[in-house]
Amino acid sequence: MQRTDVNSLGEFGLIEHLTAHHELRNPSSVRGVGDDAAVIRNGDALTVVSTDFLVEGIHFDLAYTPLKHLGYKAVAVNVSDIAAMNAECKQITVSIAFSNRFSVEALDELYEGIYAACKKYGVDLVGGDTTSSQRGLYISITAIGQVAEDKVVYRNGAREGDIICVSGHLGGAYIGLQLFEREKEVFNATGLQPELSENTYALGCLLKPEARIDMVRLLAQYNIKPTAMLDISDGLTSEITHICRQSAVGALLEEGHIPIHTDTYNTAVMTFKIDPITCALHGGEDYELLFTVRPEDLPALRTMPSVYIIGEICNAEQGIRMVTKGGNFHDLQAQGWTHF
Ligand code: ADP
Ligand code: MG
Repeated sequence: MQRTDVNSLGEFGLIEHLTAHHELRNPSSVRGVGDDAAVIRNGDALTVVSTDFLVEGIHFDLAYTPLKHLGYKAVAVNVSDIAAMNAECKQITVSIAFSNRFSVEALDELYEGIYAACKKYGVDLVGGDTTSSQRGLYISITAIGQVAEDKVVYRNGAREGDIICVSGHLGGAYIGLQLFEREKEVFNATGLQPELSENTYALGCLLKPEARIDMVRLLAQYNIKPTAMLDISDGLTSEITHICRQSAVGALLEEGHIPIHTDTYNTAVMTFKIDPITCALHGGEDYELLFTVRPEDLPALRTMPSVYIIGEICNAEQGIRMVTKGGNFHDLQAQGWTHF
């Protein structure tokens, strides 16, 4: 019997391997695997569904993640995937598995965060499942949203000449993670409590990301329908690669236009001696929206708050590149995450 290591395919290769041969049988299954959420016809409207799994020790570390924040983030990242379809999340189900290390009080804290996010995003918790685990905490959330048929946005609609936009600063969550990891090492080695008060911005990016549903509403208000959209969970390079592959186009990003918060910038340079642009390109978990719009929408786009224009879609032969502040062109290669 052949035994293939799961790492040999990578996350996306593995998903493709497991799902590529499945053909959708129901006409109501409008879109299956491959986007931020599945799309299902439901009368005149579309229902969008997305699910995410968070595993202790892989996706979060309870040494520095308060349970309340964890609950909030677990909901926010799902609402974000629904927003990435240009849709609004209405319902979630929450499934948890936990060992006897967790008390009722601990789970109450987790749910405090879940309910805070439900309130913030106008979402109802409508079900789930509860079970035990041998070790650790597992949280799986399924999010369900609605969108009108002519408003849904996939990853595959970008065309040459489209403008590439992002909804906010990038790289903050990556710096937040580096800070926590560093402090954890110090704590393990010396028992000294972490000194994190100077870095509240980056830590907030990691612990309390927001789903940019406000951007979905703003785009509608300005009458702009993106040609392609997704949320940035794995880093800008990985995400623009998804758009380019699925839309059969290339992209040129401008380094100088990629938004990086000054706190992220300073901590990257001064504390970690890394290039801030690397954090923005390859750091995950910022959950900003990355989208492309037709050039005709540029005048309206320019009047919108909190949209950053970071590049332009070109033809596939030109590949995915970034022009640096110094005017040099670099090919961008997704580093991706190895989960296994
Ligand atoms: P995102 O980063 O937006 O959450 P993922 O990278 O997790 O998206 O997933 C990419 C696509 O693959 C999605 O359409 C998702 O539903 C699908 N997918 C992921 N894992 C599986 C699986 N085990 N079986 C079927 N589909 C999957
Ligand atoms: Mg997504």
